[in-house]
Amino acid sequence: MRVTVIGGGYVGLVTGACFSHLGNEVLIVEKVPEKVEKLRRGESPIYEPGLDELLKEGIEGGSLRFTTDIEEGVNFSDVVFICVGTPSLPDGSADLSQVEEVARLTAKSMKSYKLLVEKSTVPVNTHQLVKKTVQRYLGRDIPFDVASNPEFLREGSAVYDFLNPDRIVVGVEGDKAREIMEELYRPLTERGFPLLVTDPATAELIKHASNSFLAMKISFINMVADLCERTGADIELVAEGMGYDKRIGRAFLNAGIGYGGSCFPKDVKAFIKIAEDVGLDFGLLREVEKINSERIGRFIEKVLNALWTLKDKKIAVWGLAFKPNTDDIREAPSLKLIPELLKKGARIRAYDPKAMENFSRVFLPGDDLMYVQDKYEAVKGAEALLILTEWEEFAKADMEKVRELMELPIVVDGRNVFKPNHMRALGFEYYSIGRS
Ligand code: NAD
Repeated sequence: MRVTVIGGGYVGLVTGACFSHLGNEVLIVEKVPEKVEKLRRGESPIYEPGLDELLKEGIEGGSLRFTTDIEEGVNFSDVVFICVGTPSLPDGSADLSQVEEVARLTAKSMKSYKLLVEKSTVPVNTHQLVKKTVQRYLGRDIPFDVASNPEFLREGSAVYDFLNPDRIVVGVEGDKAREIMEELYRPLTERGFPLLVTDPATAELIKHASNSFLAMKISFINMVADLCERTGADIELVAEGMGYDKRIGRAFLNAGIGYGGSCFPKDVKAFIKIAEDVGLDFGLLREVEKINSERIGRFIEKVLNALWTLKDKKIAVWGLAFKPNTDDIREAPSLKLIPELLKKGARIRAYDPKAMENFSRVFLPGDDLMYVQDKYEAVKGAEALLILTEWEEFAKADMEKVRELMELPIVVDGRNVFKPNHMRALGFEYYSIGRS
């Protein structure tokens, strides 16, 4: 099939590259010309494991192309995936202006039937607004459908997730839209991945409900971690003990410095607002947000307990990305922690395997904040090491070497990367989350 993807970010690129890998002809429309130029040269503007290979395969095979021209994109195929951003507005609701723009421009450009598919995360019933917008700007009699096909990929394993989904959710209104979506996903459903067909409103709601539920699991375990710290219990074993229960599951029970990223914070906010707009108080989610935002202060407290004061202390930071295997720093805890540490007078040497370029655009390097190219370089002469992201290369680091390089062997681990007994045996003063 021919497929159009509008928006060449994390979701659009992965969606386009994967659909091309599954045997379709794909045209990705991205409005930032520099991104398109880079992509045409076969360079990905983002880091995502496995994406470079798929882009190369698609570009060299001629099944994956890029353009800045939305009219060309819309008329390239019958199926137009909307993969643009839906960030938060100041009141917490989703800013749908990019989705509206795509609906409007699609209406003005289309010359024949189109199925517009919302892959962006949007509030329930956005499909009705998309439909109304297309009708308004179309001004001529061309049939179209609007479907919801929320995306559940995780950054860091996005390509794998797209090609091995726990489920595919498709919200459609008519048979034609349903048949197109079923056909498109056939290579995955034939391999046994479940496809749930719903109405569009239900599909839209499934996405916000899923992300909010996962954020709730994280805040829940973080609160239990606080309880562990005050009672002498061990959060890792509590999570393991809970996780064996199939009704609970072990995933997303990792205590730490809280959730971040481009999805959970904004989707929880949007879900609270969606409920509020229909007269419901989703107080549970407001508590999820509150617990999450308190993580930063709690981590700083831990650092201060370990170091007493931070003025002129040499601090190594491992990890800036909001999670491992990505260069994405949107809403990363590091964005709040680093300025707090700097305000208290710390002198920081930071290292992240992929996110330093993005981070150093927000916080320019200077005397108090240096970016180094190697994790061992970061800890040289440091009076403490703070771990903010659980990259595998940190878990595999030679910690004896780290101890020798540091001036003081103090580690404050915000992601429970190491085992306390092991760290103490190596001679570290080791602080972590929810473990005495
Ligand atoms: P992103 O910011 O990385 O990408 C959006 C892209 O769309 C940008 O490159 C932007 O330039 C482009 N764009 C905006 N308007 C355009 C237009 N009119 N024409 C062409 N291009 C346009 O965002 P993302 O992380 O890919 O997220 C996109 C959507 O998917 C959001 O709604 C998000 O909530 C949802 N989502 C994201 C993830 C994730 O892990 N990132 C997972 C599931 C769902």
